[in-house]
Amino acid sequence: MLDDVNTTAPQGGADAAASSLALRFTQVKSLLQKEFGDTAFRSWIQPVDATRFSGGVLELSVPTRFVRDWVKSHYADRIRSLWQQNFGPIARVDLIISARKETVAAEPAHTVSSYAETPVANQNTAVVEDLSSPLDPRFTFANFVIGRSNELACNAAKAVAAGTSRLNPLFLQGGVGLGKTHLMQAVAHAVRAQDPSRKVAYMSAEKFMYQFVKALRAKDTMSFKTALRGIDILMVDDIQFICGKDQTQEEFIHTFNALIDQGKQIIVSADKSPAELDGLGERLRSRLGMGLVAAIQQTTPELRLEILRAKCTMLGRNVAEDVLEFLAQRIASNVRELEGALNRLIAHAELAGRALNVDTAADVLQDLLRAHERRVSVEDIQKKVAEHYGIRMADMHSPRRARPVARPRQVAMYLCKALTSHSLPEIGRKFGGRDHTTIIHGVRKVEELMAQDAALRDDVDQLKRAISG
Ligand code: ADP
Ligand code: MG
Repeated sequence: MLDDVNTTAPQGGADAAASSLALRFTQVKSLLQKEFGDTAFRSWIQPVDATRFSGGVLELSVPTRFVRDWVKSHYADRIRSLWQQNFGPIARVDLIISARKETVAAEPAHTVSSYAETPVANQNTAVVEDLSSPLDPRFTFANFVIGRSNELACNAAKAVAAGTSRLNPLFLQGGVGLGKTHLMQAVAHAVRAQDPSRKVAYMSAEKFMYQFVKALRAKDTMSFKTALRGIDILMVDDIQFICGKDQTQEEFIHTFNALIDQGKQIIVSADKSPAELDGLGERLRSRLGMGLVAAIQQTTPELRLEILRAKCTMLGRNVAEDVLEFLAQRIASNVRELEGALNRLIAHAELAGRALNVDTAADVLQDLLRAHERRVSVEDIQKKVAEHYGIRMADMHSPRRARPVARPRQVAMYLCKALTSHSLPEIGRKFGGRDHTTIIHGVRKVEELMAQDAALRDDVDQLKRAISG
């Protein structure tokens, strides 16, 4: 028998049933939080409420279509099995979009013309156009290859372009060359193609700063502000460049707030998450973290191979599969370098009249490949540290907190921060999906201990030398 919460609730009343359902679902949520980490929890699981459990069907409400699709594909199965383990049989999980939340959040949505028709916007059309940097015609969604590492960011960008989400602001976070600019410009292309009357401005943070300073000098910040506020979608790329520039930040926050209050969409990108960006004022930090922070993670070999295949198709070149596999395996840093390697290889083979094979690739790309060999991976570090302390590699990922495994794990975290260019969330993911705050805590702990404990300092030094070769 599938228990309805309604019928099994202690008092039998409707209120009691509802609260018993809420309580049960809260338990499920906290298990999910432990399993998937705080970031995923805040973005996806927190906003989900249980509305009914009846006939074995658990009905959950979510605020938007985007959240619904994501929860459905990523968490629904897990929710079902956790419910089953804790509260008995369940047939299915249904996700509905909560009408109430839709209307609360549905201020002026992304409708087209409300702004375009105001005289201010008309006057400033030229300025708006001027604000936007030219787009790279290749940076479209069609040319973007999706893999596990960029799926969230790409789906979020598409939802924003379609105007079906209120992920505002959308914060794209990712290391260099992983596709942030490509995705932002893809949104701009898509929006312009769908609806040319929606004003999209894409600019680098540097350009934003430059324009602002120019307006300041000309004592004409008014028209800069008005122009910005006439935009429907504002995208500012690489906002780490605004960090520490107080006056620009102030202006950015003002504009930002004004745009969001008017229901306009903001997309920003940075190489770090809002929490990790230094020199970002608290106000801006919290504002930026209020929408969705979508991380683009390091590429996987499979994604790199797919990207190479796509680039070959685009270039109309036929490159042997083993050559592409060789590149995908060996050039792991980022997509920009990967593309560069492919282009260089093709150009060289052509100009020098050499066969396009693995030997040529190894030869032509020597310098690049050597540089990569020197790069240290999180896995290398975990392995060396585990060996050093005689713990298992699995202990690096496990939730066990006993000191004999926790301390070496913290040492490994410290070394990952010191020796790799991975961001803290990336490191966290490689330590069994831990939150970046756990990594910060681990790193600080080791720093503290090293200051007091010479033996630990020696350990760390020795490990560092062993790892960096
Ligand atoms: P970022 O702005 O994050 O530094 P870019 O967006 O400039 O990186 O991407 C670097 C290069 O890699 C660009 O030429 C871009 O088209 C390409 N690229 C990145 N990710 C992908 C992807 N998933 N599919 C296809 N091309 C990609
Ligand atoms: Mg970029």
